[in-house]
Parts: sequence; C-alpha cells; structure tokens
Amino acid sequence: MRVLVVEDERHLSEALQRGLGAEGFAVDVAPTGTDGLWMAREHSYDAIVLDILLPGANGFEVCRTLRSEGNWTPILMLTAKDGELDEAESLDTGADDFLRKPFSFVVLVARIRALIRRGAVERPAVLQVGPLWLDPSAHRSWISCGVPEGTAAAGAARRAREIDLALTPREFSLLEYLMRHSGTAISKHELLEHVWGTGFDGDPNVVEVYVGYLRRKLAEVPLGSDKGEKPLPHGVVVETVRGVGYRLEAPDQPDQPDQPDQPERPEQPEQPEQPEVS
Ligand code: CA
Repeated sequence: MRVLVVEDERHLSEALQRGLGAEGFAVDVAPTGTDGLWMAREHSYDAIVLDILLPGANGFEVCRTLRSEGNWTPILMLTAKDGELDEAESLDTGADDFLRKPFSFVVLVARIRALIRRGAVERPAVLQVGPLWLDPSAHRSWISCGVPEGTAAAGAARRAREIDLALTPREFSLLEYLMRHSGTAISKHELLEHVWGTGFDGDPNVVEVYVGYLRRKLAEVPLGSDKGEKPLPHGVVVETVRGVGYRLEAPDQPDQPDQPDQPERPEQPEQPEQPEVS
C-alpha cells in the first residue's frame, strides 16, 4: 500500500515515513502543497495524509483541486489543535477523515488502514442530480441549464448559465436530503426526522408545505433565465409517491418533456431553441 504524506515539518514527515514504513507502507513525502498536488497527480496512491498549513498550496486547496479533477484517493487531513473549523472545512472540501495534532501514531495507522479498506470511492462534496447542483459547504444550489452536453458551446457557456435557486435554510436542507436519496421514495416521517429533527413537535403537514415551496422554486427557474433567452426545461421534479412520500427525479437529458404530476410547472416551449452564446 502506497501512501503520500504531504507535510512541511521535517521531523514529523520523517517520523511518519519511518513509522509507516515499519508498518509495511511504501511512503512518499511531499514538503509543500504544490509538490503534493503534483505527486498525487503523477502517481497512484492508496491514501494521502495531508497537512493543512503548507507552503505553496494549503491542504484545503490541494484536497479541493484533487476532488475537482476526479481524484478520489482517500485523504486524511491533519488539523491543528482546537481546529474545529478546520475539521469541518476538511470534510467539506472532500477529505475523508481528519486527525487532530498531536496524534497517536497507532491511531493514525488505524485510520489509514480504514480509509484504504474503503478505497477510492467517488464521494463528491458537491451534489448533482441531472442539471440540479447543490454545494452544502457554500450553501448554494443552482440549475445548470440551457446548453446540452456535447455541443461546442457547452464548456464556455456552462458557467454563465448557472441559475441560482434562492432557498431558505429549511428548503435547502430538504432539497439536500432529497438529492442525497434521489430516485428513492422518502416518507414524510423520514423527511421530518432528518430535515426538521427528531425534536420537532409541530404539524407534520409542514413537509407538504415545504415540498410545495420547493416545487414552485424549481418550476420558476427556467423563467428566471438570463438575457431573456428561451432556456430548456430542466425537468427536475419532486414527485409525489402515493401512500409513501416524495421522490426527487431528474431526466437523463435536460430537454425531456414535462412530468405530468407537477401542476405548477409553467408552460415550456416544445422545441427549445439553441441559446446563443456571447
Ligand atoms: Ca504544516
């Protein structure tokens, strides 16, 4: 098992190299974030131990960059003492685990072994269901619409065609839960428990009310498109599953026709025009 240690404190990186080597790991050390990023791209590692405060790119930047490039090598972040914010940010940037300095070597080895057992599974920090995106750490959700994949303009125009959903914290949390379980029917009870919390003792119909808000905001998105162009219908819907609850559905293609069970959807053009790109 090959492990990359990105750490600028020499006594620590040397101790890790020696100790992990004695445990049977093949260890490479990168003394800066820039070197770490380069090595992680060039070689295949089973796990990466990543410090946060580094010369060059810091640990968050290294982690975020690797994830954005589709590199899912398990990452264990080393955070500072009393660094609760660091720990939260570590996980938000796509790290798998963190260990607070100073740490026990035995615990470090156990954590690395656990990460390697799980393997490099795709675990994006940003959720996507069809054209719908949600970034839990930035508290932002948006529809990426209008430009079909594969067209010449798609890459250049994509960023310009992200339309933010203006959601309240509760709506955001509801959408996040539905997205994490997209394609699956979720009961009202489960939504109540995970979005409102087990301590909620108000009217359970609040779920229906908020699903209604969410549907309305999703349906409004195409009409809120920039530059007055006719956008493609995004087709993301919260479906009612009779007797069960709700299910978030998105089409494979962004130009599928309307779902029949969403009464509040605005009228969509039958043959959407190819939007112009400026
Ligand atoms: Ca450091």
